[in-house]
Amino acid sequence: MTGSLVGAGHFLFGLGPEANYSPRRISTATASITFGLVKKLVSSRLPTALGNFTMSAYGKEADFFPHVVLQAPSIDAAVPLVRIHSECMTGDLFHSSRCDCGEQLDQSLEQIGKEGGVLIYLRQEGRGIGLVEKLKAYNLQDDGMDTITANEALGHQSDARSYEAAALILADMDIPAVRLMTNNPLKVESLKSLGIEVSHRVPLVIAAQPENAGYLEVKRAVMGHYLG
Ligand SMILES: [Zn+2]
Repeated sequence: MTGSLVGAGHFLFGLGPEANYSPRRISTATASITFGLVKKLVSSRLPTALGNFTMSAYGKEADFFPHVVLQAPSIDAAVPLVRIHSECMTGDLFHSSRCDCGEQLDQSLEQIGKEGGVLIYLRQEGRGIGLVEKLKAYNLQDDGMDTITANEALGHQSDARSYEAAALILADMDIPAVRLMTNNPLKVESLKSLGIEVSHRVPLVIAAQPENAGYLEVKRAVMGHYLG
């Protein structure tokens, strides 16, 4: 299949397995996409406690850490429910109470499992700085810094994530418009700038815990996240 997408950014590209796979950059008025950085490598059935999904891996050939897509059986809605979740090993896998990532992942997967939709799991750990730097930032936070100043003290951006791969994956799946499950206004704007129409934002309501109350407050007050 050759995915095509005419969204706000008005760009077209093919990404299917038989597409000519050669990385190159294309630019449009609103988007500059690294074409060919991701392609679908394999799909498999994945029954889970939160629903039955088809799991696909997207990346480069022989990629050990591909991006992952979990697709519920029915995504018939004209504008499907979509969660774009950036990897957080400590939260997603070990249920860390330093952040709300694990709860957001579980909540969105449960809703997608019931309603249909797509979860895109992007391998950009620690808001894009990687696990080692994230753990260093945790130590700085334990010394009194907040999540943003800790990242900056280590020489990183407060948020180094990119959603280009997600836009390419959505294009490959022929999904030009989404109902996006997020509390993050920057993610909505980023997707729009990449040509994906965000028809609705679906909030994820996560209760604060003593360990992550400060983290969530910085997300709300400084990063502009919509938190109840
Ligand atoms: Zn997290």
